Amino acid sequence: MIEKTIFVTGGVCSSLGKGVAAASLGCLLESSGLRVTLQKIDPYLNVDPGTMNPYQHGEVYVTDDGAETDLDLGYYERFTSAPLSRDNSVTTGRVYQAVIERERHGEYLGQTVQVIPHITNEIKSRILTVARNTDADVQLCEIGGTVGDIESVPFLEAIRQYGQERGRENVIYIHLTLIPYIGVAGEMKTKPTQHSVKELREIGIMPDILLCRTRSPLPKDMKEKIALFCNVAPRAVISAVDIQSTIYEIPSWLRQEGLDRIVVEKLGLKAHEHDWSPWQKIVDTIKSAPRCARIAVIGKYMELQDAYRSLFEAIIHGGIGNDSRVEIVKFDAEDLEQRPAGEILADVDGILVPGGFGMRGIEGKIQAIRYARENRIPFFGICLGLQCCVIEFTRNACGLAGANSTEFDPKTSHPVVSLLAEQRDIVDMGGTLRLGAWPCTVKPSSRAQSAYGQDEIMERHRHRYEVNNAYIEQMQEHGMIVSGICPQGNLVEMVEIPDHPWFVACQFHPEFKSRPRNPHPLFRDFVRAALEYQTRKKK
Ligand code: GLN
Repeated sequence: MIEKTIFVTGGVCSSLGKGVAAASLGCLLESSGLRVTLQKIDPYLNVDPGTMNPYQHGEVYVTDDGAETDLDLGYYERFTSAPLSRDNSVTTGRVYQAVIERERHGEYLGQTVQVIPHITNEIKSRILTVARNTDADVQLCEIGGTVGDIESVPFLEAIRQYGQERGRENVIYIHLTLIPYIGVAGEMKTKPTQHSVKELREIGIMPDILLCRTRSPLPKDMKEKIALFCNVAPRAVISAVDIQSTIYEIPSWLRQEGLDRIVVEKLGLKAHEHDWSPWQKIVDTIKSAPRCARIAVIGKYMELQDAYRSLFEAIIHGGIGNDSRVEIVKFDAEDLEQRPAGEILADVDGILVPGGFGMRGIEGKIQAIRYARENRIPFFGICLGLQCCVIEFTRNACGLAGANSTEFDPKTSHPVVSLLAEQRDIVDMGGTLRLGAWPCTVKPSSRAQSAYGQDEIMERHRHRYEVNNAYIEQMQEHGMIVSGICPQGNLVEMVEIPDHPWFVACQFHPEFKSRPRNPHPLFRDFVRAALEYQTRKKK
């Protein structure tokens, strides 16, 4: 049972980076020899973010056990070694669903079911579930949304009660706020922070530490002013400055500000001196490695920062794995439907087509794949990217005109990608994709095997459609091999073209398992191939 809990709330406005802040603190505590786990509570009514589109919610992150979760869980897993599962992601939808189901079963017979205590009890029990089932020293629990939102109220009340019940020596509250800079006055302003803390205190929560987002470090007198007005110690007012270079620098900055030391002290944890240099090396590589690969990503939501969050991070990790930087160049797939791929993609060292749903931009992705295949440019396809590869190859190399996925053309004469058998009778949309970790056997002497260095792997999935095994023989005759198979159901997991410098695609999402400290082998090898291509081009 975890005794110590850290709650992280946010004030003033959204998008201040609570997830990265919580993950960074987790990273710091871990490197002090403590074991951590992290949990995210989202106040929206969806049971999970699985049915929201990326404009609403950014990427949907998938855990090993197949939960579709908030992308902050991705930060938690990348910054720490905490294994996360369904229990680490809580939403209002899930909480209410459980309480209402219990009410229908008659478990509250005779009672009026209310927000306090029934909903708040359910929230506390979900926090406790993680505390009870995880073998860690500290639990970090992030409350989504902003203090003051109507939706957050039951969660704030629940975490207030939790602190009361478990004792203030075991529970601390960290509040992330914004110190805006008013250009015309040339000043940083503390008033919004004071108001936000006042709001928390009205609910009965006294923050112990304030993480203040600022453009530049807070001067001593400003920290003292915030401390005085907000009833915290001056050293518990931490500058969380805007970091332009890389998010992996945030833990280093917070460490310099003494965040981990205050947390350790307040919770009475036993921390050890630690060597920060391995993490610093990651930061240095991202910022200043001499080599840099230009990687094109052909997607649909390129203007959104968060729609392909884990993917972009995994590409950066692929760079780290080669002591190199990467420049990610984002292309809208629909542009490739208007102009020749050779014009748009002339300058890149590698091309990646990521996952996605729906028809828009498909033909553009197929054009990009054809260009990579015919011009021997390193190519990496993920999920929908693999499906598009198979469509392109069967159309243009096997000569099957009109080959398609039944997702895009239900009446295609060559359904080279079609609905998984188990999906045919499914009508509910939520949580019904093929999700989570499934085994894959990789083919000896393939690029897949050389990347992984092993024959059996586990990777995370999120899809409904699948390569149609009836076409595999034709694909192989023309030079595209199946290099990974899921033994359960004999499903195609990976394809590649041996007679190409590096052309690999997978049905799973390797980006979910890549870490800065442990770059994913496929991303590492893809970036390596891109760097080799760059060298060849220069000759
Ligand atoms: N739309 C495709 C499917 O459902 C691919 C999904 C994905 O890329 N995540 O199978």
